[in-house]
Amino acid sequence: TEEKSLHFIEQIIEDSLSNGFPQDKLRFRFPPEPNGYLHIGHAKSICLNFGLGLKYNAPVNLRFDDTNPAKEEQEYVDAIKEDLQWLGFNWAEERYASDYFQQLYDWAVKMIKNGTAYIDSQSSEDMAAQKGTPTQPGVDGPFRNRSVEENLTLFEGMKNGDFEEGSHVLRAKIDMTSTNMLMRDPLMYRVLHRHHHRTGNDWKIYPMYDFAHGESDYIEQISHSICTLEFVMHRELYNWFLDQIYEDSKVKPHQYEFARLNLNYTVMSKRKLLQLVQENIVNGWDDPRMPTISGLRRRGYTAASIRKFCEIIGVAKRENIIDFSLLEFCLREDLNKTAPRVMAVLDSIKLVITNYPEDKEEWLEAENNQEDESAGFRKVPFSKELFIEREDFLEDAPAKFFRLSLGREVRLKNAYIIKGESVIKDAAENITEIHVTYDEDSRSGSGSEASQRKVAGTLHWVSIKHALETEVRLYDRLFIDEAPDSHKEKNFLEFMNPSSLQIVKGFVEPSLATVQSGEKFQFQRLGYFNVDKDTAEGKIVFNKTVGLKDAWEE
Ligand code: ATP
Ligand code: MG
Ligand code: MG
Repeated sequence: TEEKSLHFIEQIIEDSLSNGFPQDKLRFRFPPEPNGYLHIGHAKSICLNFGLGLKYNAPVNLRFDDTNPAKEEQEYVDAIKEDLQWLGFNWAEERYASDYFQQLYDWAVKMIKNGTAYIDSQSSEDMAAQKGTPTQPGVDGPFRNRSVEENLTLFEGMKNGDFEEGSHVLRAKIDMTSTNMLMRDPLMYRVLHRHHHRTGNDWKIYPMYDFAHGESDYIEQISHSICTLEFVMHRELYNWFLDQIYEDSKVKPHQYEFARLNLNYTVMSKRKLLQLVQENIVNGWDDPRMPTISGLRRRGYTAASIRKFCEIIGVAKRENIIDFSLLEFCLREDLNKTAPRVMAVLDSIKLVITNYPEDKEEWLEAENNQEDESAGFRKVPFSKELFIEREDFLEDAPAKFFRLSLGREVRLKNAYIIKGESVIKDAAENITEIHVTYDEDSRSGSGSEASQRKVAGTLHWVSIKHALETEVRLYDRLFIDEAPDSHKEKNFLEFMNPSSLQIVKGFVEPSLATVQSGEKFQFQRLGYFNVDKDTAEGKIVFNKTVGLKDAWEE
């Protein structure tokens, strides 16, 4: 086993530990806003934070950053918890920024009293105009020097619901000329007469992210508050807010930034994913085409494959775009080891073995997974009439066609060698039946000389009278553009792939009669498939999870 090198955040932690920071004060958090479902980008942050927790035996809180009641819902809280658990991580404590509303309010009052916060009663346009630009300093507004008393009275009035939305805001009094625009008297509170999913109608004012986030980290005594690179400029403000409330002997949280995950051929903003759901472009947050954790799960992704993916992409400070095929690679690697092999035919054509007895049936032995000895064997039924894949037969085949054609031999997987003899066609010249003969002595595993004979290829099949009819959902990428939300003049919805879902009738071997939602299989030569949650009594639905890289050979 090779020693893994440390990523830069581990390096920072190692350095602080060797400078005397006590290991038992290490504490991390994962802070989702419950305004949507988790996506594969969140998985990177989850694996990072919870990975540090495991490595340093430190607690990791799940903190819901629920300071914006307009967009947050209990449904999202529940889904986030389910997804985290499924990914295999355990949080130390379940916390909510909304639990800290009173503490945050008290701190805001303290800041007003200290002269570091004030009520501004201008329109947002006027405030924006005074803020300046990155190259031009801002100017002080007319309310900046309000008295402490007036500020306290107004702030209490805001809290009590005396004022309309937009009438007043609480701002930090920092520096309207700072080179960092975020330091030019940022908002701390706004009036919002909204129902909050946890605090109901208790509050008429809600704290802004920048104020709430660092103070929440402080309350929970988070040592390393890890976020994505967009927050680099926020760090100065994060520290400033902490300086207003920090007491000696406590841990002062530090913010560290890493590069977010970008994946091609998809979008990851929750706002855009929500739009896909609301406009019924997909069938819910867990649509198997979605980059959400629940969508990937329903598609057939394993938690281990997502964790592996996060491990491979690593943690760094430079943004890049990861190829979706890397995620699929991780999945295939995992499923190859764990998914039982079965036979299914998705584009069926009838094959008749003319020299096989009419009412005979044999139950042939088939290996469940050649990658896993403990997976054992099962029996598959064989009879005179089979389905094979339409594309596995060509009447006039080129020499390099390693499948069935007239006058040539192939093996039927786990069964016999057959030879193409003739075809039956309908009035439109479409082949409706393929007639073959079989070599009775060639059964796989029989050890006979005939069974050792080399043939061009091996085909999968199902016995028509034993096969189960199923619905199979085949997916293609959801977007036809590598970066659908990067276009200035075009909306990302203009890049939807119109054929991202195709539904076909598939026939599967009868061993699958009692499958349960979530079970995963390799359909030999076709790819990995899992049982969809729409499966019910008398109706089996499969999702195609991912294709095989290489077709197997026997
Ligand atoms: P979105 O922009 O998709 O709405 P968000 O960052 O607003 O995402 P949050 O719920 O606030 O979503 O995110 C929770 C945590 O997950 C944050 O720490 C955030 O930095 C992290 N995160 C979100 N998206 C990514 C991503 N693509 N890569 C890595 N981490 C991410
Ligand atoms: Mg957010
Ligand atoms: Mg965001």
